Amino acid sequence: MSTDPIEIVLATRNEGKVKEIERILSDLPVQFKPMSRLGDIPEIIESKPTLQGNAIKKAQTLFDYTGIPSLADDTGLEVDALSGQPGVRSARFAGENATDADNRALLLNKLTGCADRTARFCTVIAYIDPEGIFLFEGACEGRIRSDESGAGGFGYDSIFEPDGFAISFAEMSVESKNRISHRGKALQKFRAFLFERTASL
Ligand code: IMP
Repeated sequence: MSTDPIEIVLATRNEGKVKEIERILSDLPVQFKPMSRLGDIPEIIESKPTLQGNAIKKAQTLFDYTGIPSLADDTGLEVDALSGQPGVRSARFAGENATDADNRALLLNKLTGCADRTARFCTVIAYIDPEGIFLFEGACEGRIRSDESGAGGFGYDSIFEPDGFAISFAEMSVESKNRISHRGKALQKFRAFLFERTASL
């Protein structure tokens, strides 16, 4: 059995995501290389109409550029009262250069006075290596709070309360969020896949 870790490039500059991913896969012989440590990477525009399309585009761009197995995730927040918006446009909900705070403010604004607060985070992970493209999905049901709460996490965490909890994602530890989150569930599936792979090395 090989003791060399598998090197995987992560297609994200979001430190919050890197932390979540490293935490879940920490016991596997994998070494993650965040995109920020790779030098000049071509800009990747999330132009596809689906989470799958964008996840594959991000992982494929990095794989073509580095030749190293590459992992990308794309996440969307689907709000039922907004017919599934912002969905695949979650990062750009309040405009092309919107900050997380702008996106949260717009969403709270659109839901002012709305009784139906149900929503879900959906994640698609794409992993690409010389053997092909592999996809892993996860979702987390919950509701949009009427105000922000908590200082942890990132993105929409402070306004999302997962089902079964009276606190937001931003009030949870990384471990607690990982146990129930969209990305946590998709990563557990990826983890099982990688475990099989590394066990046979
Ligand atoms: P992307 O997957 O990085 O493109 O993220 C799409 C949008 O969803 C961005 O606005 C992120 O900040 C937000 N987002 C992604 N994952 C999470 C999460 O786990 N919690 C809260 N917001 C998230």
